[in-house]
Amino acid sequence: MTQGYIFDIDGTLIFDGAPLPDAIETINALREQDKTLRFATNGTGKSKEEIADELNAFGFKMDANEVETSVTACIRYLKRNFPTSKGQLLLPTRTYRMFEDFECDNDDPAYIVLGDLDEKFNYLLLNDVFQKMKSGVPLIVFHRNTQYRKNQTYHLDSGAFTLALENATGEIATVMGKPSMIFFQEICHTMDLPKEQILIIGDDVSTDIKGGIDAGISTALVKTGKYRANPRNEIKPTRVLDNLKDLL
Ligand SMILES: [Mg+2]
Repeated sequence: MTQGYIFDIDGTLIFDGAPLPDAIETINALREQDKTLRFATNGTGKSKEEIADELNAFGFKMDANEVETSVTACIRYLKRNFPTSKGQLLLPTRTYRMFEDFECDNDDPAYIVLGDLDEKFNYLLLNDVFQKMKSGVPLIVFHRNTQYRKNQTYHLDSGAFTLALENATGEIATVMGKPSMIFFQEICHTMDLPKEQILIIGDDVSTDIKGGIDAGISTALVKTGKYRANPRNEIKPTRVLDNLKDLL
């Protein structure tokens, strides 16, 4: 029996700036059944409070502590795996503020977190990360996206630099966002439920469903948002939903 639900947000609960049909009612009904709910997104720019406020403005009723992002997953991962050591945080200001209780050591870090620095990427910074990776410092990133779209134009994304660093050093970065299984594992740690009682619901086979399967958690693909029928896709969700209310 499913007791915990991890919902993707974009394309699953909201789409094009509005709630999807039956999304609010489904969430409310699950809450009335005393289910444990989490709302998960890969974004790094907004805090969980900001995301909860946006969703609540649409009519959802969620607490910021139910929202998980690749940043909150990263913070949990670092506290679990590097509880006493200091790292180097190469992050834009909007992300850095979420790490304010971390102590840093930029000369001899135990790990490096590399975020979406956009115009602040430069040779000196990347060469410094390269040299530290060569000497064994693990690199932690939020995603491997090589491009993003803004104002109808594609822009180079931080994943392109991650791929370059991985290629040059032969070392693999640890990814915190979907489809990394770490993302879902860290969320499960907050739910206090056996994995068998948790279901991940999302519209994206390559992130929500792939990450869920890798983490050993049941998945439901919903036919909204990014969903496109592709019978040849080898990634198979546990369930396919025409509408979120099929969960009830
Ligand atoms: Mg989605």
